[in-house]
Amino acid sequence: MKNIIFIAPPAAGKGTQSNTLQEKYGYTHISTGDLLRNVSEDTDLGKKIREIMNNGDLVSDELVTELLKEKLENTTGNFILDGYPRNVIQAKILDELLSSINRNDYIVIYLNIKEELAMRRALSRITCSDCGHIYNRYTPGMQPKIEGICDKCGGKIIARDDDTEEAFKKRFQNYIENTEPVIDYYKNKNILKIVDVCDDKNQTFEKILKILEED
Ligand code: AMP
Repeated sequence: MKNIIFIAPPAAGKGTQSNTLQEKYGYTHISTGDLLRNVSEDTDLGKKIREIMNNGDLVSDELVTELLKEKLENTTGNFILDGYPRNVIQAKILDELLSSINRNDYIVIYLNIKEELAMRRALSRITCSDCGHIYNRYTPGMQPKIEGICDKCGGKIIARDDDTEEAFKKRFQNYIENTEPVIDYYKNKNILKIVDVCDDKNQTFEKILKILEED
């Protein structure tokens, strides 16, 4: 199977779908949001990053690219890129980066979702603070077996600080301004696949699988 780049608004399900692809097909899930969250909060840099993220703003291209480059260079199997590129500059940087490490065998999947549904999901999303696995407070099949404890690693499940209504609206606006042009960038390259997100994550997964099998 090919490497995957997911492009989508916040809370469209990139992380959830990546989790499933990772479990079923052994993909390495590279989330730039997770890479940033992993920078220790005890450092000045970590504090600054959290301030930007909690505000719903984007972290600098340089910093995110540096973290991504290191991770990609240490990834040997198939990967899923979740959260990068978030603007056209990053898309161009990524072209160069993937060429330089001979990893040009990818498809780009755009997860199309209405803002209202994405916001509903963001406000009910809960995440493992250790492994990043994503749950939902209300959706059957997406709740942890034991409240507050991750099924996968036993870590503590928390609500993300940037999954508030205010931060979500800012992130969605940021997405429209910065990330939507990336969709055209890949459309023009003829490598964009579009998946309309369903209420049921399994149905969305089936659509993704069909694309991967056809390609
Ligand atoms: P995510 O986990 O993908 O929802 O990302 C959470 C936050 O991390 C975003 O709202 C940004 O503040 C930051 N972030 C993640 N990826 C990037 C990126 N490629 N460029 C800039 N900021 C990013």
